Amino acid sequence: MKKMEKLKCVCGAKAEKLKTDLELFDGTILLKDVDAYYCPECKEEILTTDQLSSVREKLRGILPNFEAFSLRKKVTQLGNSLSIPLSKEITEFMHLQKGGEVKITVKNRQRLIIDVC
Ligand SMILES: [Zn+2]
Repeated sequence: MKKMEKLKCVCGAKAEKLKTDLELFDGTILLKDVDAYYCPECKEEILTTDQLSSVREKLRGILPNFEAFSLRKKVTQLGNSLSIPLSKEITEFMHLQKGGEVKITVKNRQRLIIDVC
């Protein structure tokens, strides 16, 4: 089977294969020479499923314990404060126990970062 060097973008234009640098996690990680496609019409880089899994492989090489958690939680009331329950899967992964300390950084109105101290 011939390897496809061109990809049709959602806009209908032909996307060209190229190597690109991928910035991940707000620029914390820079992956160089990643295979991707570029649409000259949309000026967007497109990654196919195969290209994405190779990115995932590279990430595993850099971060052997790389695991992404993304869970939706309901904010609850606890006395005068609002509280977000951390389920067992998170606390076990982070080795977080009752009485443990965390540092909360408010990045903006939509994002806060919790670091285990
Ligand atoms: Zn396009």
